[in-house]
Amino acid sequence: MKHNSKKALIITIFTLGAIILMSNTNSIGNDSAIIKSDAVSVKSTDINITKPELTAKLLKKRLKLTWSSVERAKKYKIYRSNKKDGKYKKIGIVSADKLKFSDRDFKGERKTYYYKVKAICKYNGKKEYIYSDAVKKTVYKRKSVVNGITYIDGILIANKTYKLPSNYNPGTNSKAYAAFQKMQSDAYKDGIYLYIASGFRSYSYQQSLYNNYVSRDGRTLADTYSARAGHSEHQTGLAFDINNPSSSFINTREAIWIEKNCAKYGFIIRYQKSKESITGYKYEPWHIRFLGKKLAKKVTKSGKCLEEYLGITSKYK
Ligand SMILES: [Zn+2]
Repeated sequence: MKHNSKKALIITIFTLGAIILMSNTNSIGNDSAIIKSDAVSVKSTDINITKPELTAKLLKKRLKLTWSSVERAKKYKIYRSNKKDGKYKKIGIVSADKLKFSDRDFKGERKTYYYKVKAICKYNGKKEYIYSDAVKKTVYKRKSVVNGITYIDGILIANKTYKLPSNYNPGTNSKAYAAFQKMQSDAYKDGIYLYIASGFRSYSYQQSLYNNYVSRDGRTLADTYSARAGHSEHQTGLAFDINNPSSSFINTREAIWIEKNCAKYGFIIRYQKSKESITGYKYEPWHIRFLGKKLAKKVTKSGKCLEEYLGITSKYK
């Protein structure tokens, strides 16, 4: 690291300077000399190249970065990267009196970034760069609509309140599918056979599906188990119906296994028992939604359905 070796060099120079001054004053050996040597040591800690201490706080619409000041800093540059040791892109520059910066340049989805701040200092006309340690932060906005898709706390939402655009056609989400495959192979080791009965469904497919249910059962009943076009979680590519999407699946060995284990793979049972009035759907132990491991575990542990967890509704207008 280039700036580290520079830092070491500067510290060495100051230490040497302090020793020389101290040995000089010691030879004088009076009160004023002690003050003098104190002054030197105070000064050397002041200039001591302390790197900026960076902290990041996620607010409603922005990520607020603050840091401790660096002696003799002229400016600070702020950097961001997708990977800890990846390429850092400059996202801002502020003057020495401003020890803060807000990153607003992120949209709906949850994303993990690494931030660093660099102090640009001048010592005897020479520029020195002092970096903070990298700070990792997952960013999202409380609510944001990106291309007609609603994200709450960075989570893509499709329910009776939040509709997806008819042209949103992402197909099966690859991360969700890989997570399912892992779950499937682990379940198999337990003697449980799982398969996807229904995964991604396009807007138009959902439209014909729902219309068929309405003509068979009527709109009121159909709304308790089938989503209107644009309101289906299957259109997100993040939801799967496992094995047998019917009430006969309830309490099967497979249903019990999924309930117990799916969070470990990043899934939640989306429409829980006794949450019908909140989710807007009857209990569906076969319908799982991918959230990623960390969040799925959190939501499951909370005992809340996703609407409760995020503080949102699921009701047709
Ligand atoms: Zn489903």
